[in-house]
Amino acid sequence: MKKEKITIITPCYNEEEAIPFFYEEVDKVTKQMSNNEFEFIFVNDGSKDKTLEVLKKLNKKDNRVRFLSFSRNFGKEAAMFAGLEASTGDYVTIMDADLQDPPKLLPEMLRLIKEEGYDTVGTRRVTRKGEPPIRSFFARCFYKIINKMSKIEMVDGARDYRLMTRQVVDAIISLKEYNRYSKGLFSFVGFNTKWLEYENVERVAGETKWSFWKLVIYAIEGIVAFTTIPLSLAAILGLLICFIAFCAIVFIVLKTLIYGDPVGGWPSMVCILLFTSGIQLLCMGIIGQYLAKTYLETKKRPVYIVKETEKDLGGKHE
Ligand code: UDP
Ligand code: MG
Repeated sequence: MKKEKITIITPCYNEEEAIPFFYEEVDKVTKQMSNNEFEFIFVNDGSKDKTLEVLKKLNKKDNRVRFLSFSRNFGKEAAMFAGLEASTGDYVTIMDADLQDPPKLLPEMLRLIKEEGYDTVGTRRVTRKGEPPIRSFFARCFYKIINKMSKIEMVDGARDYRLMTRQVVDAIISLKEYNRYSKGLFSFVGFNTKWLEYENVERVAGETKWSFWKLVIYAIEGIVAFTTIPLSLAAILGLLICFIAFCAIVFIVLKTLIYGDPVGGWPSMVCILLFTSGIQLLCMGIIGQYLAKTYLETKKRPVYIVKETEKDLGGKHE
């Protein structure tokens, strides 16, 4: 019987220190799972260190190792997408290079899919150990907000680490959008999903590529990509303020008719002006976010550009 193949996709951005640990660790797991064939796809996301050289060496040593190298840094989302498109396995998993996604969960994930009929097994960390408390706080708020606003469920603490059947992978690849927010895309395609929980693991080497601001922008992207509620909120806010303004006008007209017209209310007028112009800017900003995303989508730019792959080395692969 032909062995079923599992593809392991690993986005790498400046991970020269972490990759050797990662490979060693995953290699151990693949040895335990000898009933399966494996394919490693490392996606070098425009690293500025020696990541690509490390990958080339690995490819020489182990012919299961493939790599794609981007022409510049396109971001983890693009790297994951490229990996999914290049994957040939019957099952596909995405793992970070820093071993924060424990490879030892893999056999259990495969068992759940094969024996319990799930299509995809996701992982979520139940603790945020080792993370600055302020970051955890904002992350929690983000999940609360987006789950209220969007029909698509975003699971708090969900990682990109998951095992999927070929069918799920093909569904994800069929979503061609430019602004990719994977956590949402994975929920969007549906299928039976099982969540495995684990304690947060700290990075094995190197440091995180996510600054606080990058995360804030990523959060806004997630909201814009998966709900249009902010647009409705802007409209409702506008209506509300019009209503308040109308009441205030009636009040002032009556007051003037009854008590005469002493000139006053300078400070309150300035406050009101500032307040309303602030709201206007905010709403325009919200509309702008959606417009900008639409603009980028209509350009139909590729999500990533590949500069070289293992095939360019003329190695033993097809
Ligand atoms: N990564 C990437 N491109 C980027 C940023 C990150 O491919 O622009 C990869 C990185 O090499 C790692 C994974 O995405 O394998 C997760 O990144 P990181 O560990 O920095 O994020 P964190 O775990 O802190 O959320
Ligand atoms: Mg990490």
